[in-house]
Amino acid sequence: MMADYIKILDTTLRDGEEAPGFGLTTPQKVEMAHQLARLGVDAIEAGFPAVSSDNFEAVQRIAREVQGPVITGLARAVAADIDQCWEAIQDAERPRIHTFLPTADMHLEGLPREQAKARAVAMVARARSYTSDVEFSPMDATRSDWQYVAEVFESVIDVGATTVNIPDTLGFAQPEEMAAMVSYLREHVANIDRATISVHCHNDLGVAVANSLAAISTGARQVECCINGIGERAGNAALEEVVMALTVRRDHHHVEHGVQLEQLVPTSSLLQQFTGILVQPNKAVVGVNAFGNDTGLGMPQDVLKGALRARLEQLGLLLSQDELNHAFTGFKRLSDYKSEVTDADLVQIANNGRRAADGVFDAIGHVYR
Ligand code: MN
Repeated sequence: MMADYIKILDTTLRDGEEAPGFGLTTPQKVEMAHQLARLGVDAIEAGFPAVSSDNFEAVQRIAREVQGPVITGLARAVAADIDQCWEAIQDAERPRIHTFLPTADMHLEGLPREQAKARAVAMVARARSYTSDVEFSPMDATRSDWQYVAEVFESVIDVGATTVNIPDTLGFAQPEEMAAMVSYLREHVANIDRATISVHCHNDLGVAVANSLAAISTGARQVECCINGIGERAGNAALEEVVMALTVRRDHHHVEHGVQLEQLVPTSSLLQQFTGILVQPNKAVVGVNAFGNDTGLGMPQDVLKGALRARLEQLGLLLSQDELNHAFTGFKRLSDYKSEVTDADLVQIANNGRRAADGVFDAIGHVYR
């Protein structure tokens, strides 16, 4: 039996970029979106077109220039936002409108539940008149009345929502609760088979990745996440951590994904370069310690090789694939007996890699005799 497929929606350019200190220029966003396409994400949330003309322009350029992933824009559940979102994304190969509405009573500000639901339905229908790919999010879903969320989901799926997302907007939920909420919705939304269940987890309590994985275990099939886990406050679930957990522990999760592992570190590096904000050295998967240390924990070679290539490129060392393969052999040898590989070591490793590719030396610099 084919394992189920988990769609990865990257929201680095929307939820991530909205966080203070992580702002990107339009050209940077476009370059980042191209890199996300190389990474193999299923969907790119490119921005929130109604927020500003800059945001609109970035979403429109990404929609026009970036091929491969679904390109989605965020829109409040109001007609003007949805119309503007469509205008921004309509030229995409695969355009999606993602619309959201509060469902927690405290956010409804007196709007009766029935009216809030009616608005969600009307706005999903409006989005659906533009594109067959529509996502709906009830903001703060985990702190809402689950029964009401189920009613709203059933109603929006009835009018054509193809993805229903569970945002843990304030990073409040615990893994068992996320898993239970997905199960609850699968049991209580009669037409749930017509939509993909998505989760959007924030990291305020440090469990965004754990919550995402728990949701997968009970049937979520899209995860929304950000490169390096950036995002509002403590950030969103880190894409690279979700993907590596699904990969290294495939025996446990039994699902597939479409992410190209060797692009994880280059993508992380590009974002760090653009924002000027570096991940901590001990950050899982993409931190320099995770990259420099022993490979024994099952980190796939593709990830390490991508990391080596990215670091060498930062040092201005551009290697061919053959040279890189030799350099990688040298790198592994060196890291066996040296716990910290320095930039000077990397320059030597690159030079040895080049010579080895020419057949003069082997990868660790011994002259062939
Ligand atoms: Mn968010």
